[in-house]
Amino acid sequence: MVATTYAGAVRAGTQAAARLHRDLGIRSRVEAHGGNVDVFGSIGALDLPLLLRPLQGLLGAYLNDPAPGILVTTQRAMSIQRFTAAHELGHFSLGHEPSLDDEGILRRMPMAGERAPKFQEVEADAFAVEFMMPRWLFFAHASRQGWTARDFVRPDRVYQLSLRLGASYAATCYTLARHRLITSGHVDALLETKPRELKAELLDPYRPDDYRGDVWLLTERDAGTRIDGSRNDIFVLRLKEHSGGGYLWDIDQLKDSGFAIVGDELSEPPEDSVGDNVLRRVTAAPPDDFRGLIELAEFRPWDPDALLTKLDVEMDLTGPEEEGLSRAERRSLLEAA
Ligand SMILES: [Zn+2]
Repeated sequence: MVATTYAGAVRAGTQAAARLHRDLGIRSRVEAHGGNVDVFGSIGALDLPLLLRPLQGLLGAYLNDPAPGILVTTQRAMSIQRFTAAHELGHFSLGHEPSLDDEGILRRMPMAGERAPKFQEVEADAFAVEFMMPRWLFFAHASRQGWTARDFVRPDRVYQLSLRLGASYAATCYTLARHRLITSGHVDALLETKPRELKAELLDPYRPDDYRGDVWLLTERDAGTRIDGSRNDIFVLRLKEHSGGGYLWDIDQLKDSGFAIVGDELSEPPEDSVGDNVLRRVTAAPPDDFRGLIELAEFRPWDPDALLTKLDVEMDLTGPEEEGLSRAERRSLLEAA
């Protein structure tokens, strides 16, 4: 039964998402390995048929005749594809009627409020928000990154958080407020900064051809995590280098993996550092369709076996989803091979 009040619909959608997290063991996996909630992988785990197609005027659809299935557009950024897929997964999980979904699902973020909502759609949106961005996921990333409540009002932090959640910057801002981690006034202030400014600031002085791709800031705190990114993404590595002790970060593996190093500089020691460390800042553009493990290490050139620090990150930069199999399906086929 679809809820008959707005609050009831939000509750039903939220509970269904939490139930699916439990059934699929998602929380323990994400808390151990970082990264986002694998929406397309979850659809695969449920054996729910998925079609990725260029869709005219639609972001996605849920069909249930003759059997349940999901359609998701190939024509949007990965964060939108993930939200759409989570919304359609919500229709399936909640036993809804078929639905053709356009841009409305993005505007109908449960925070935004609406005059005469169709409660099935409110349920599916609440499901999508909770499935992709549960409260515990914000805490998991904050704890890994060493962020406190004050960091959630900093646009640069919230942008990096959004990349790790696999959500858009705006959706991340709204959901922070929905989880009561910031106020709606903070949301307005955060939305005054556009991701493009944050990207330009991070990359400066490097200027890419355009700012469509995302810019990930990676530090030692990202060690052991998964990066789920897109083809035009760029990486800024900010690494503490213990040069006083003779240690250097070896970034050859990045080059060997085909990354173009477009910036490499040393700067002032980090504020919290003791002794004579420097901050190494490496800007790297990945090769096309990169997928693999990046393992960088800090050691003394004359003693390469004694690693001081390691930054190992599993990257999949093949987003957004294209026609055919989802990236999650491709990954599981490769692992089985
Ligand atoms: Zn819908």
